[in-house]
Amino acid sequence: MSNVTVCVRFRPLSSKEKRDHGDDICIESLDSETFTIKDEKEEGFTFSFDKVFYEKSKQADVYEFLVLPIVRGAVDATNGTIIVYGQTGAGKTYSMEGPNILESDEQKKGILPRVVDGLFACIRSSDESVKYTIKLSVVEIYMEKVRDLFDLSKDNIQIKESRTQGILLSGATEISLLDPAEALQSLSSGIANRAIGETQMNMASSRSHCVYLFTLNQESTTEKRVKSGKLILVDLAGSEKVEKTGAEGRVLEEAKTINKSLSALGNVINALTCGSPAKANHIPYRDSKLTRILQDALGGSSRTALLCCCSPSTFNASESLSTLRFGARAK
Ligand code: ADP
Ligand code: MG
Repeated sequence: MSNVTVCVRFRPLSSKEKRDHGDDICIESLDSETFTIKDEKEEGFTFSFDKVFYEKSKQADVYEFLVLPIVRGAVDATNGTIIVYGQTGAGKTYSMEGPNILESDEQKKGILPRVVDGLFACIRSSDESVKYTIKLSVVEIYMEKVRDLFDLSKDNIQIKESRTQGILLSGATEISLLDPAEALQSLSSGIANRAIGETQMNMASSRSHCVYLFTLNQESTTEKRVKSGKLILVDLAGSEKVEKTGAEGRVLEEAKTINKSLSALGNVINALTCGSPAKANHIPYRDSKLTRILQDALGGSSRTALLCCCSPSTFNASESLSTLRFGARAK
């Protein structure tokens, strides 16, 4: 079985979509894995994924199916990556954080707060003779530059590879997480810094990738061994086709850079899932900062979850189709 799980999530119609375009939705559910989507010419396309989360799906459903197995793996020193993909407004950040990273409504909590709870719960229930430490770095990739969201003065983090620790964000701040509440505060401060840096650089968060990197070290007091697992969560830049809207200057440059890194990601995942073992030597990790950072958490024994977020509105059918094609290629 492949180590890559691909799911689709349709958010509910937004009030703006309802107001501007009515209640028309372009998808018809066939079952929990298969649906049909109609493009603007009313042509139907059928897609199947590991699971489809329709408009009424709960945050907990997404977490339990797609994320929890990877969290358990990371506690067991198996690296994992969870990626949310889709056009701006499709529900990536809602899925990743919830309405707010510090959301108090248990049902609305997104993947990140659940990961934090899940990591600490797994550790609590693990063997007493193993001592765990969890560290967190949060960086943003904008125009192929990596910026530390815990220290905005570190605006050009280099990606290095070490023999013992694998891929490293050289010099990036690592915060030790001691309990779930404190971990959420740290996440929240990183996310808040994203907005500050953005206004300085005059960009919107939909133009950058946000990467949350959890490193779990475990030390066995009885066996004298140290193991570590990485869990990387990625809230990607919006996948929408910007060129078509007549963008120029910086906006066009941003769009081209995003396209390049998203297609690099697609190529890597595709090489991992369809490549023959011989081809596995040629996985193009070096084609973007994003795939380089993910290199040792994507492929090999690592587990990957891709959540393709879509609007169900007929108005957004062509962007949804493009998102679904990306997901289908990753399978
Ligand atoms: P993205 O990060 O992909 O640009 P957001 O996650 O910010 O999109 O979602 C856009 C809007 O839709 C937000 O107002 C968000 O609260 C809402 N939304 C997204 N997904 C859901 C969902 N599953 N349930 C309810 N509201 C959602
Ligand atoms: Mg977002």
